Amino acid sequence: MSAPVANVVPAFDVESVRRDFPILDQQINGHPLVYLDNAATTQKPECVIEAISNYYRRDNANVHRGVHTLSDRATHAFEQARQTVANFLASRRVEQVIWTSGTTAAINLVAHSWGRSTLQPGDRVLVSWLEHHSNIVPWQLVAAATGAEVVPIPVTDAGEIDLQALAGLLDDRVKMVAVNHVSNALGTVNPVAEIIRLAKTVDALVLVDGAQSVAHWPVDVEAMGCDFFVMSGHKLFGPTGVGVLWGRESLLDAMPPYMGGGEMIERVAFPTTTFNVPPFKFEAGTPNIAGAIGLAAAIDYLGSLDRQAVMEHEAALLARTLELAEEVEGLRRVGTPAHSAGIFSFLLEGTHPSDVGMLLDQQGIAVRTGHHCAQPLMERLGIPGTVRASYSIYNTQEDVSRLFEGIHKAKRLFT
Ligand code: PLP
Repeated sequence: MSAPVANVVPAFDVESVRRDFPILDQQINGHPLVYLDNAATTQKPECVIEAISNYYRRDNANVHRGVHTLSDRATHAFEQARQTVANFLASRRVEQVIWTSGTTAAINLVAHSWGRSTLQPGDRVLVSWLEHHSNIVPWQLVAAATGAEVVPIPVTDAGEIDLQALAGLLDDRVKMVAVNHVSNALGTVNPVAEIIRLAKTVDALVLVDGAQSVAHWPVDVEAMGCDFFVMSGHKLFGPTGVGVLWGRESLLDAMPPYMGGGEMIERVAFPTTTFNVPPFKFEAGTPNIAGAIGLAAAIDYLGSLDRQAVMEHEAALLARTLELAEEVEGLRRVGTPAHSAGIFSFLLEGTHPSDVGMLLDQQGIAVRTGHHCAQPLMERLGIPGTVRASYSIYNTQEDVSRLFEGIHKAKRLFT
């Protein structure tokens, strides 16, 4: 009698995913490219490149108010892309999705629109020590203009937000808590549900910077309970120069425009102009139409993959990385959060991060070195920077092995 056939679930087919990304198939400095700089920007699948190129080849026109066919097509594709983002984030309404040029622009929009119109002297904005500069500096600019204060939320030596310290900072002066979902410098996955629960005990708003999370797992902004969520297209297999602000309807309705110009008005007159409704109120000028269409193609692409399998694949890459790291004498992982997403930040004793980065590049391995736009965090950890390898859907166990061959070579050469 033959053995019963197990119910075989096909493994995540990384080789098939790799074939969708033409850039990966090349040699760098005589070696096959190993791209481990995904936290800075991800590569683009063929379907995204095609969507952008097809738009310019066949449909290019300015959006809204056009009476001709091309404008109609461009407007339809652009607004359809907004719907794709709304579905992707599980937004209740499509009007809650505002196009921006990226995460940075989205945070600036909230800081300058909501912040300038709401914050009073003595009010507080809490941001964590883990933040990217783009979730610190806009708040500092607005604080300087309003008399409000930006107060950092402590992080532990492991690189996690100290929730007890956060609870201790919360009082009625706190009007906004702005934190990232995943730290770009260390990979820490922040407990945003708990942070939101705590912030709501003092009725503070919460902005979640999802620049580093959306490529790794599905996000449901309504279930999360945040007030604002921001992300960049280029970290999600989409093009640069496009991103999203998602906001609560009542907040978006009440917020004043940030930039003035075409598209965001209802009627322009002297002396008074009236404004359009969200999302258009916040979208002055010709938008990045091709970018929005490219981002929608990227989201569709991601949607065609088994996202649970993607998560398991990326977790296996990180797990193997941490195993191999244990075997390298003098290697220190920077940040040891209990939950991390696809990022491995490290220092190699006796070497400078940029020397290690350059040596890895000579072997075809792309990593990032430096402070990762998180200078306060580096200061908190007492280091000038790190070497950062960040994984994505198309990385392989072979990539991990190549990274460690490179690290061993750096050790031999520099120490
Ligand atoms: N926030 C985080 C956590 C990031 O990792 C980045 C980019 O690295 C940003 C914000 C800024 O994103 P962008 O440069 O696309 O505006």
